[in-house]
Amino acid sequence: MINCDYCKAKRSVIYDNLNIYLNSHEAKGLCLNCDEDGIIYECPDCGLAFNIETTFRNKCTCQE
Ligand SMILES: [Zn+2]
Ligand SMILES: [Zn+2]
Repeated sequence: MINCDYCKAKRSVIYDNLNIYLNSHEAKGLCLNCDEDGIIYECPDCGLAFNIETTFRNKCTCQE
């Protein structure tokens, strides 16, 4: 679980982290606190996950 960029709740966003590798490391995420959804990208190199709709990047900072 990751922090929500919309309501700033800690570890409130759930996503399908078991199947995320099968889908280009992207999965739909949903915040259990504010109900906002987004596309979560999980970095295959460092494991960092973030919402690519709110961070406006589709690569991890470790790949830049
Ligand atoms: Zn939220
Ligand atoms: Zn990374």
